Amino acid sequence: MRLLSWKGIFRRLRADILRRGVRVEGSCRLCGRCCHKIILMDEGHWVKHERDFRRMCEENPQYERFVISGESDEGFLLFDCRMLGVDNLCSEHDSRMELCKRFPTETVYYSGGDLLPGCGYRYVEWRFRDAYRKLMGIAPPDFDTILENELGRLDDRKKNT
Ligand code: SF4
Ligand code: SF4
Repeated sequence: MRLLSWKGIFRRLRADILRRGVRVEGSCRLCGRCCHKIILMDEGHWVKHERDFRRMCEENPQYERFVISGESDEGFLLFDCRMLGVDNLCSEHDSRMELCKRFPTETVYYSGGDLLPGCGYRYVEWRFRDAYRKLMGIAPPDFDTILENELGRLDDRKKNT
């Protein structure tokens, strides 16, 4: 998951202006990839320092399942989870932490986070162009139309070469 706070601020502002927030759709494909390189949140802030993580573990020993595995470009600590099995499945699925049960949350989206490529979930966002189209009564292009246009463009390019 990538986190860019300006992106998050933009998303929040856009949702406020358009009065329509993001929706989470889809389902988990059990690939286990989001159990690596996790960024943890502590009291509303992404964890950057090992001392904060140690305090979190003292306050809630459930965090001890996470081990520091690196640092993101933005300086946040990255964690791997010891509970992930070699089969990429969670070895304590039934009693996993709340943060795992709730993933992917809208909070992640509004913090600027993106889901990993290939994740079975997706964030469905309402963009300015969607609001404009609705206002003007323009139906969004369907997939077949987009495909047809792109194939037409390819044909034109071939003819001109
Ligand atoms: S990355 Fe997405 S599909 Fe894969 S385990 Fe995580 S939530 Fe499920
Ligand atoms: S407890 Fe399970 S679901 Fe949560 S991060 Fe660890 S392996 Fe993934």
